[in-house]
Amino acid sequence: MQRSGKVVVVSHCLLNANAKVKPLALYPGVLCAALNSFIQNGFGLIQLPCPETSYLGINRWGMSKEQYDHPNFRQHCRNILIHTVNQIEALSVSGCEITCVIGVDGSPSCGVNLTSSGLTGGVIKTFEDIEPQIKKSGSVKGSGVFMEELKAMLQKRNISLPFKAVDEHHPENLID
Ligand code: SF4
Repeated sequence: MQRSGKVVVVSHCLLNANAKVKPLALYPGVLCAALNSFIQNGFGLIQLPCPETSYLGINRWGMSKEQYDHPNFRQHCRNILIHTVNQIEALSVSGCEITCVIGVDGSPSCGVNLTSSGLTGGVIKTFEDIEPQIKKSGSVKGSGVFMEELKAMLQKRNISLPFKAVDEHHPENLID
């Protein structure tokens, strides 16, 4: 039997940089430096859906966790996660080892250890309108909205998985 019985669950853009907010992609397609060791060691990859692309499209602005932390977006996250969570449960019940979930630190949605904070919204007519928000924005400790919802859905099914993250500037080392 060839199958490894080992799987990692990864944020969508780690396998498809084209989903990222323009012009944030630091790699053309797959973030190989983060995933090569899993691929070479026979792991299967489950690609999570991208909550931001499916909610606001590819021409969305970069936003903060405060802006995404809204009941409708949380509901959207749960809606698009249901099939993946079913698949994780089915694989787990069948004896497969789901090694971890790998998110993207700094993302308002997929951050695990770090998320994005600061922008609050409003009409933008000049750079001065948003300059104070930009100065206050940045990475803060905490998970993104999508990862919070995924954790909660897994917990409801008594599935406990380690959550790790990629720092895209140093993708070789996953962060616990
Ligand atoms: S929402 Fe998540 S999957 Fe989508 S681009 Fe951002 S980090 Fe990647």
